Amino acid sequence: MPYDHRQYDPLWLEKIRPDILKRDNYHCSFCGVPHKSYIHRERNGKWYQIPIADLEQEKSLKVKIVRIILVIAHMDHNIKNNDYNNLRALRQRCHLNYDRPIHKVLRKATFAAKRRQLRLFVVEPKKQKQNKSKTEA
Ligand SMILES: [Zn+2]
Repeated sequence: MPYDHRQYDPLWLEKIRPDILKRDNYHCSFCGVPHKSYIHRERNGKWYQIPIADLEQEKSLKVKIVRIILVIAHMDHNIKNNDYNNLRALRQRCHLNYDRPIHKVLRKATFAAKRRQLRLFVVEPKKQKQNKSKTEA
């Protein structure tokens, strides 16, 4: 889901987000990776944490390092439902995987809406052609 604070509860940043991070012990609820940690992720999806002290050395070895910033996810995908039971601290990757099925649905809906708009603005003047063409999927 695109991250837009304006759609969120006004207490999101100052209260809800910190509360959930604390409740979930600053770890991803799905995979357990710690908040603000540095990790290296292997191709098979396994990850290991890189101690801050080793960061420079790992970087010099060209190890790909990802910094983890946990996000708060809505388990029912409804950003208005800020019941704490509906919220989980997740890392980006886990959040995206969790949301993937609904992203597909949204992408389709957005695409269909855009196409309808295009038809209004672009195809409308050529009504003759419009009638012949098969634009409906
Ligand atoms: Zn995770």
